[in-house]
Amino acid sequence: MDPISPLEQALHAARALVLADLVAGEVAEADVVSLVEDSIVQRRWWVEQWPDGAAFVAGLVAQDVQDALLDRYGRWPLCPVCGSGDPHALDVEPELGPDPHWVCHKAGVKVASLGSLGSAAGGAVSS
Ligand SMILES: [Zn+2]
Repeated sequence: MDPISPLEQALHAARALVLADLVAGEVAEADVVSLVEDSIVQRRWWVEQWPDGAAFVAGLVAQDVQDALLDRYGRWPLCPVCGSGDPHALDVEPELGPDPHWVCHKAGVKVASLGSLGSAAGGAVSS
């Protein structure tokens, strides 16, 4: 039995975090999940070339999925902080770094760590 490599652990973690946020946004449908898998495949190649980037994978996968969703569905994740004005998406910060989190540039606040959007939405979820 092979031990799970740090690289695979990073990819598993990235998948889990992004899926958690997709579930929180109620967009975790089968074709959306496949977007995550596509990104994981590409980032597996990327991190094999640059193992030191393992800690950055989650943030990159989130941005890949964000870009892919923008083409097919529109903005994701929508900002849960700003109650008025135009709906806008959150951004991942840092774009290339460890400990990625979602920020709203309009309000200038950190909204949630990647994978924690569900708890950040809090009482705003009524359905
Ligand atoms: Zn906002």
